[in-house]
Amino acid sequence: MTSDFEANSSAAPSSETPLVLLKNVNKHYGELHVLQNINLEVARGEVVVVIGPSGSGKSTLCRAINRLETIDDGEIRIDGVELPAEGKALAKLRADVGMVFQSFNLFAHKSILENVTLGPVKVKGMKSAQAKELAMSLLKRVGVDNQAQKLPAQLSGGQQQRVAIARALAMQPKVMLFDEPTSALDPEMINEVLDAMVTLAKEGMTMIVVTHEMGFARKAADRVIFMDGGQIVEEATPEEFFTNPQSNRAKDFLGKIL
Ligand code: ADP
Ligand code: MG
Repeated sequence: MTSDFEANSSAAPSSETPLVLLKNVNKHYGELHVLQNINLEVARGEVVVVIGPSGSGKSTLCRAINRLETIDDGEIRIDGVELPAEGKALAKLRADVGMVFQSFNLFAHKSILENVTLGPVKVKGMKSAQAKELAMSLLKRVGVDNQAQKLPAQLSGGQQQRVAIARALAMQPKVMLFDEPTSALDPEMINEVLDAMVTLAKEGMTMIVVTHEMGFARKAADRVIFMDGGQIVEEATPEEFFTNPQSNRAKDFLGKIL
């Protein structure tokens, strides 16, 4: 049996390595200190909901995690590995972090199936037949396999967002980031997307989800992080956070959204 000491002395990722690690991360936009000394560890299989007022830095945090934004200082590691600043190595490691945005960002002139196969073929060098098989199984998982031959515009917003989730999953990421995935959807479509996310969470996917959907947080989150003014102000279980927020800033915020 391997001792803890041996396990930790190796640089190779182990089950003990946080899947996502941010250490003293700072970022400015000019004068604006948008991420202020952020420290965050997300364990394998953990689901973290990030909540906070508009402008608090939630999207910047997500974008920093897969290097869509640079940071000024600090460290960001995915499964123990710091993402390189650019180049091929970045594209490969970025595939470890799946991202789903508020706007679905599907390729408008490609079929649903092609939207999902493109990444695995181009970035991972997967054979076309294998990519199709994978794509169909993922589309089925999110309940839109019968739409595979259509163009994005022929689908509802909720269906498109589920395709976006399948597309991200097709890269076989280690962690999935969701940045307000339901806030552009008509109310009647929100649940079909949240349900797909809850299923993913229950299957053990590591997830960081920016959302104000309390039902999702209560069903799926292990931890809620409250951000305000570029800082992580509070961290708690969903139950604790929603019933007994500690900081005045969190109380204020919850007073407005509840
Ligand atoms: P949230 O997602 O919590 O609403 P954001 O991370 O989008 O917050 O934005 C945090 C702050 O940074 C806001 O004040 C926003 O105006 C500012 N900001 C975001 N992106 C940029 C940018 N590219 N250039 C300058 N300021 C930005
Ligand atoms: Mg945002």
